[in-house]
Amino acid sequence: MMQLKCPICGGQVVVSDDALPGEIVEHECGAQLEVFKKNNSLSLRLAEEVGEDWGE
Ligand SMILES: [Zn+2]
Repeated sequence: MMQLKCPICGGQVVVSDDALPGEIVEHECGAQLEVFKKNNSLSLRLAEEVGEDWGE
C-alpha cells in the first residue's frame, strides 16, 4: 500500500500498490479521486463527473 495526498482535504489516502491511472478512489472526506500519473509517480486529482456533458 502507498499513501497519497488528498487534493481536497489534504489528508492521507491509502491506495493499493497496483492502482492504475484512471482508477477512482473514494476518500473519507467524501471526495471521489482519480489516480493519475505525474512525473513517473502516482498522484490524485478530483474525479470529474462523466456523462452529463456528453449530449448525444
Ligand atoms: Zn479527502
